[in-house]
Amino acid sequence: MNQVNIKGKIFHRFISCDEIELVIKSLSDRINKDYADKEVLFLIVLNGAFMFASDLLKKIEGNHKISFIKLSSYQGLCSTDEVRELIGLNEDLKGKNIIVIEDIIDTGITMECLRERILAKEPSSFEICTLMFKPKAFKKDYNIKYIGKEISNEFIIGYGFDFDGYGRNIKDIYQLKE
Ligand code: 5GP
Repeated sequence: MNQVNIKGKIFHRFISCDEIELVIKSLSDRINKDYADKEVLFLIVLNGAFMFASDLLKKIEGNHKISFIKLSSYQGLCSTDEVRELIGLNEDLKGKNIIVIEDIIDTGITMECLRERILAKEPSSFEICTLMFKPKAFKKDYNIKYIGKEISNEFIIGYGFDFDGYGRNIKDIYQLKE
């Protein structure tokens, strides 16, 4: 499938599932090395990161905890400055090694909000792992240690990424070309 049509928008094939697998392997190798003798609490940011987190965490060695949070700033195709909701941050984070697993960092506003709330709970370490990063859209200055792939600003769908709820099930990543 070279292109998909969702609600009249045409998305072109951009990153194959084979490439995604290689990207995830390299991220998991780094995390396994960095946390070889440390326990981690992975916080998966729903909804978009579900597929990425599932494939990544199957490659992570050792005994770790996994929890889910939800925080969204996105409606339709454009990023907004308004961060809407945070659900599920009920764990005691004090003294823990936290890695947040996110699907994509665009302006960085969503992650900044999340980061502040997590740091306020005094973890002993905090890192971000994102599958995709849009460096030209990023407006913040915090460190993102684990970046799968840097991409341009165009909107993507597939592999967990949606357009108004559609497209998450597609195994490759597609990009909007207008
Ligand atoms: P930020 O706050 O960094 O601008 O936006 C982060 C959130 O926007 C992501 O978690 C994701 O839900 C959404 N987002 C940003 N870029 C894209 C994109 O290209 N495709 C999709 N489907 N969502 C995106």
